[in-house]
Amino acid sequence: MTAGEATVEATTTTATTEQRRAALEAIAAEVRGCTRCKLAAGRTNAVPGEGHPDTEVLFVGEGPGQTEDAQGRPFVGRAGELLVRLLASIGWRRQEVFITNIVKCRPPGNRDPEPDEIAACAPYLQRQLEVLDPAVVVTLGRFSMAHFRPGERITQIHGTKAPAPAATGARDALAYALFHPAAALRSPDVERQSYDDIAGLPRVLTEARARRSAVRAGAAQDAAGSAPAPTANIEPEPGADAPTLF
Ligand code: URA
Ligand code: SF4
Repeated sequence: MTAGEATVEATTTTATTEQRRAALEAIAAEVRGCTRCKLAAGRTNAVPGEGHPDTEVLFVGEGPGQTEDAQGRPFVGRAGELLVRLLASIGWRRQEVFITNIVKCRPPGNRDPEPDEIAACAPYLQRQLEVLDPAVVVTLGRFSMAHFRPGERITQIHGTKAPAPAATGARDALAYALFHPAAALRSPDVERQSYDDIAGLPRVLTEARARRSAVRAGAAQDAAGSAPAPTANIEPEPGADAPTLF
């Protein structure tokens, strides 16, 4: 596969790379000045998120830690180093995906984000999803999972996919659940499991591409007043090539 091919084929929105980049930067600028919740008071830097504006895969963590707060960038501490190793194990690089968090400002002492903070921050993630239109949302840890796979337990659903609720801002996307890399740093079992789980991600991307193409082809035909496209057989063939991102 040549560089860029897969992404261009899978993209149905008309925004250009530059339009997406500008829209993401506008959201980031708002985040940096945001005082919508009490986490604003304790932050050094807000951490809007970063990555490739044309990516098909969005990673969503919990919230910035100390290193992220100091640098204003997501997953740049020890958990981030592990995330980079996990990505490398499937041949992907962090610049090829987009990485953000449920809350964009560091909770004091790395405590859990609180419901009012999560609710206050959710519109930023929703807008990032609308701009990026990812085929796959990878949730890192419980809080992100709770947003995209509500009512589930991470120990039950890690390494599995399900449609992401449209209310999140995701359109025709699959949500794939991983343990949080910080949990993997604390437990060799969780670390091993994380490598196993992320090994399934390229195939989920292939499925997500096929699924959204079928859904969108059906929607286009509906809009044109003709019969909907068949959507029954949208699983890729066994042994289909694992996709690269760019
Ligand atoms: N943990 C997170 O959830 N997000 C980061 O950005 C860093 C660590
Ligand atoms: Fe604003 Fe989100 Fe930071 Fe709260 S956590 S101040 S809502 S950017």
